[in-house]
Amino acid sequence: MDNDTIVAIATANGIGSIAIIRLSGEKALSIAKTLSKKDNFSPRYATLTNVYDKNNELIDETIIIYFKNPHSFTGEDVVEIQCHGGYIVAQSILQSCLDAGARVANAGEFSKRAFFNGRIDLSEAEAISQLIEAKSEDAAKILAKQVKGSLKEFIESVRDEIIHILAYSEVSIDYAEEDLPEDLVEQIKAKLEALKKQLERTLQASKSRAGLMQGFRVAIVGKPNVGKSSLLNGLLNYNRAIVSDIAGTTRDTIEEQVKIGTHLIRIVDTAGIRDASDEIEKIGIQRSLEAIEQSDIVVSVFDNSRELDEEDKQIISLLEETQKQQIRIKNKIDLETKLNVAFDFDIELNSKDDVTPLIKKLEAIMDRSNSSEEIMLISQRQISAVEETMENIDEAFYPLEDQELEIFSFHLNEAVKAMASITRPFENDEMLDKMFGSFCLGK
Ligand code: GDP
Ligand code: ZN
Repeated sequence: MDNDTIVAIATANGIGSIAIIRLSGEKALSIAKTLSKKDNFSPRYATLTNVYDKNNELIDETIIIYFKNPHSFTGEDVVEIQCHGGYIVAQSILQSCLDAGARVANAGEFSKRAFFNGRIDLSEAEAISQLIEAKSEDAAKILAKQVKGSLKEFIESVRDEIIHILAYSEVSIDYAEEDLPEDLVEQIKAKLEALKKQLERTLQASKSRAGLMQGFRVAIVGKPNVGKSSLLNGLLNYNRAIVSDIAGTTRDTIEEQVKIGTHLIRIVDTAGIRDASDEIEKIGIQRSLEAIEQSDIVVSVFDNSRELDEEDKQIISLLEETQKQQIRIKNKIDLETKLNVAFDFDIELNSKDDVTPLIKKLEAIMDRSNSSEEIMLISQRQISAVEETMENIDEAFYPLEDQELEIFSFHLNEAVKAMASITRPFENDEMLDKMFGSFCLGK
């Protein structure tokens, strides 16, 4: 890979009190010397110094910190220049770095170098990238731990366990007179079962906490006129200041973003379908189903003032089928009751005025999803790797019973590889380019 010197503005683009320009590579130190006209920088010391452009004009008074390789984020020589915030100063310093021989870094290139130089593994790199964009305080806490390597430790422990099982069976093969004794086969199976359960738990916890990472998605479903839009407006009014429209809102579904407690949620209202013709009703149910599938939490609304009808029943059957977390609302309780159904409602509401009970329920669900499971898979890449590990463990069972030990070992070795790929994939440039390319600039 290239070892040229890269540079980027590491802080957010815009007005702030300071900005940081980061350099990494062989020329980082000499570029710092050129810009500052200083002879030397002691590693890890903050040096207050002026920096100048190529025409010797003063740009700003800055603080420069030099991190000597390999003790830096990337493992190369790194220089950080802290200057006054705002667009112009940082851009001028960036330009001077380019004039002095650096080139502009690609997205994620600092992290990529850190990875190739063994400073971080992929799970840590992914945690860094997501920490920057964390959608809740809880997510940020988990990610901060993973930046420090908690996922790596978990992966290594699983990997060690599989290798242990492999060694156990291989030693037994060497010593066994004929076939493996029955009780040994049972022991190995029990160990594999336990491992599978552990991975399954991690997988489930990760999936149910996806909302914690990406922001919870809430679907509001119910037949026309039950009060879905009123409810949505109530939620939005609850926290008007941080409501934002989300691009891609269509005529058929309305999607809004609200902050509730420490969580950011996206609400989808399956709005608008009022006509009673069969065709359109079907579309309505279809759309409700899609909204349910795409959500983390389903809020269903029923109208207390009308008798239960066919459409309500279809929605109830959707609700009974889904595994998603639910809040079931009996709405319009200010009106005379006509709704006749034996159904467990979580809240009764008059959505014309108060949505506080709904907010409370939503918060409770979101807090609960922050289970005590410490380890969390944070990307599709990681989830796929764990699924592949589990498939290979599954495929090791039959050969074990049939005493086909080579096939058994093969699958366990594949399981080890799949697990290890979370932190250190076997060379796969395309995947790495794609992953690091999705990082922010300057990371
Ligand atoms: P949607 O079609 O499910 O989105 O329902 P809307 O929110 O558009 O509401 C349909 C009608 O019911 C409107 O006239 C609302 O003012 C009314 N409505 C909504 N919630 C309540 C409620 O709790 N009580 C009463 N009395 N009317 C309500
Ligand atoms: Zn509506």
